[in-house]
Amino acid sequence: MQLKYPRVLLKISGEALAGPKPFGIDPETIDTFCQEIVDVADLGIELSLVIGGGNIFRGLSAASQGMDRAGADYMGMLATVINSLAVQDGLEKLGLTTRVMTAFPMQQVAEPYIRRRAIRHLEKKRVVICAAGTGNPFFTTDTAAVLRGAELKVQAILKATKVDGVYDKDPKQHQDARLFTHISYIDVLKKRLQVMDSTAISLAMDNNLPIIVFNLFTAGNIKRVALGEDTGTLVTG
Ligand code: UDP
Repeated sequence: MQLKYPRVLLKISGEALAGPKPFGIDPETIDTFCQEIVDVADLGIELSLVIGGGNIFRGLSAASQGMDRAGADYMGMLATVINSLAVQDGLEKLGLTTRVMTAFPMQQVAEPYIRRRAIRHLEKKRVVICAAGTGNPFFTTDTAAVLRGAELKVQAILKATKVDGVYDKDPKQHQDARLFTHISYIDVLKKRLQVMDSTAISLAMDNNLPIIVFNLFTAGNIKRVALGEDTGTLVTG
C-alpha cells in the first residue's frame, strides 16, 4: 500500500492521559490509545510520539502561583518523562518495540535523544517517544513536537485534541462555531486560534510541515489521520 505519510509524529497532551480523572494517569485510557497506536504501526507507518505533561504539572500555572518559571518548567518536562514511560509500558504490553529518548540525559531511565539514532530506531520500526519536551524552559511540548518532527523528517504532525479540529471560535462555548477543513499557518497566527502555541505554528510554517488537528476521542481516528483520510483540520502554508 502506498502510504501518504510514511513517517509521522503524533502529539498527545498530558491531559488526554488522565481520561475521566481530573489529573494523573488513567490506565484504561492509556490502553485504549496504545491499541490505536498499534493499529497505525501495523500499517508500516514509522511513528514518533511526543506526550505532554499537563495532567501532572504545568510550569506556567506553578509560575502564576509564585514559583520560578524556569524551575517550574523543568518540573513540567519531568512530568512528560513520567507520561512517556507510561505510554511505553502500554505499547510494549501490546507487542511493539519502543524507545523513550529524553531531551536531557537520564540514562538510567531512557536513552538520550540523538537525532541520528532516533531515525535509525524509526527505520527499524521502533516507536520513538521523545520525552522531556525540547529540554528548554519557556517552551511547550507542542513546540517539541514540531521540532522533533522536523528533525526526524516526518511528513506530518498529528495533533490530537478533545475536539474535531480547528474552529473559528471555541466549540465548547459557541454552538455556531465553524470547523475548518483546511487553514493556513498564517491565519492560525493572525486569528490567534488555540491550536498550538505560536512558537510551534511558526516553526511548522518555516519548515513547511503539515499539521493535522483531530479528535483523539473518536475511535479509529489516529489511524484515519495517519492514512491521510479527510478527518479534522489540515494546517499548511
Ligand atoms: N515544558 C518546557 N519545555 C518544553 C516542553 C515542556 O518547559 O520544551 C514544560 C512546561 O512547563 C509545560 C510542561 O512542561 O507546562 C508540560 O508540557 P505541556 O504544557 O506542553 O503539556 P500538555 O499541555 O501537552 O499536556
